[in-house]
Amino acid sequence: MSLLIRKDHCTDPYAWGDMFPSCHPLLEEHHSPINLDHHMTRNESLEALHLEGFDAIQTGHWTLHNDGHSVVLQVGNGMSVSGGGLPDVYHTIQLHFHWGGLGTNGSEHTVDRRRYPMEMHIVNMKSIHPNLTAALDDPTGLAVLGFFIDVVYSDNVHFGHISQKLSSVAYKGQTTKVKPFPLMSLLPKHNMSQYYRYYGSLTTPPCSQVVVWTVYEVPIYISWSQLAQFTSQVFSTEEDAEQVTPLQNNFRHVHPTFSRIASVSKDAKLLTGTAGRPFRSAVSLHLPLIILLGSFISGL
Ligand SMILES: [Zn+2]
Repeated sequence: MSLLIRKDHCTDPYAWGDMFPSCHPLLEEHHSPINLDHHMTRNESLEALHLEGFDAIQTGHWTLHNDGHSVVLQVGNGMSVSGGGLPDVYHTIQLHFHWGGLGTNGSEHTVDRRRYPMEMHIVNMKSIHPNLTAALDDPTGLAVLGFFIDVVYSDNVHFGHISQKLSSVAYKGQTTKVKPFPLMSLLPKHNMSQYYRYYGSLTTPPCSQVVVWTVYEVPIYISWSQLAQFTSQVFSTEEDAEQVTPLQNNFRHVHPTFSRIASVSKDAKLLTGTAGRPFRSAVSLHLPLIILLGSFISGL
């Protein structure tokens, strides 16, 4: 809902196209996120990705930053992803989060049109590229690993490495150091061969259509209080702003797949939502979809 009433161009995905023409969703373009449903094609050759360095404790320090749109953990060098149908080796750069509001879910991808409470993205850049600018010119320049985040009653102690630091980056522009920890400890490590694969875009400007998406089927579980730290204790404004604004609903609307085929890995189970447990909001998905369809019609 809040997507519809936001006015400024930085936070309203529907207005990004005014400043970033590549964010305007034209027919047959391949944008993200998408809805993942039960009609995907199984690809028996899609086995678990090789996650190099994810089990190790990296040297140096990592940096957590509030950029006004999300909370971003820059992870330095030492980790890479490959295999699982990826066309090359990709170096891991950063991870960040998308979330909803106090009563709404905020994952970017949806499963059978249902949204999870949060989504984490691990961003990896093809290793042959010297910088992000070069990667954004390559149709498979980035590989993003997407993880749904669902909520249970008990804290996730590993996730605490990040959530406990959020108070230090509550306001836009703030940065804090994070002691490196094995990234694998955050992930659903027994279910890493279950995932969905498609080709899409960045979900923030410039919305470049250069991403090989791997969206994992089994979510990460955190507690209600850990979720609340994101939805109520992080702000999109600077500390000295006249009116501070909570950073909420930082997800882009769902886009049509058009002629794209979304595949499921060899071991994917095609789970439905969270085992039948009701999501907190289904409404937040359908309204933006109606608006998106409307914009296509008016653009023809
Ligand atoms: Zn993202």
